[in-house]
Amino acid sequence: QSFRAYIIPYFFGWFLLRRSAREMRENAEDFLNQLSNSEVFLKEFVSYVECQSKEKFDLQEYFQKRPRVLHCTTKFCNYGKDPGCEAYAESEAVEDSYSKAFTLNVVALFVTPRTVGARVLLNKHQEVLWPKGQERDEGEDSTEKADLPFGSRAHITLACAPGVKAVQTGLDLLQILKLIEEGKQPTFQVDLQKGQLCCYGEGQCILNLTKPIEVKTIFSGFYP
Ligand code: GDP
Repeated sequence: QSFRAYIIPYFFGWFLLRRSAREMRENAEDFLNQLSNSEVFLKEFVSYVECQSKEKFDLQEYFQKRPRVLHCTTKFCNYGKDPGCEAYAESEAVEDSYSKAFTLNVVALFVTPRTVGARVLLNKHQEVLWPKGQERDEGEDSTEKADLPFGSRAHITLACAPGVKAVQTGLDLLQILKLIEEGKQPTFQVDLQKGQLCCYGEGQCILNLTKPIEVKTIFSGFYP
């Protein structure tokens, strides 16, 4: 085994600077508040939520698990245990970008009975840091199914329901994008302040922002 002069992190990603993190948290809170005020949304959503006394369901309380550090994961490494992380860590893209500033574009907010997230649309410079194979459909028989476009999974986890791990947010986003790509029409839509909320059943909704949110980040590794 060859000597490595650095430690592979828990994950690589873009980490939001304090101001952008505050802005994203405010946006998330706003989003949940507006959803709470939509009867049509709540009625459907609550029917897909496990546990809780459904009469006095509170969306903010339900999504109580908020990440301490807002970020957009590029490569999950688990300190080197995850396959492909060494090649990623040593890639030219990572070496060139480590500790550099990036402005990410948040184009949508989404919610499912498990997670709340922000969809990030990567530009060409950011795509070089995106690992291959993240858009694969992990469920069922996915061998003959086409993957979603490269980078589709890029997101910032904003909140999770109790017992749900942050890894779920990206999978929830892929599921919504897959439904849209398959041509599924929204089962209902709600006009919100920042755009139209489109719901695709089972409490899965996405708000395409009429004006994208720019967030300032630093590309780095995370060592909790
Ligand atoms: P925790 O809820 O803070 O413990 O979060 P996790 O330990 O589940 O994950 C930390 C970060 O790594 C989150 O941004 C997750 O989305 C991401 N992550 C965790 N596991 C995986 C994985 O298997 N694949 C990918 N792509 N990301 C992961």
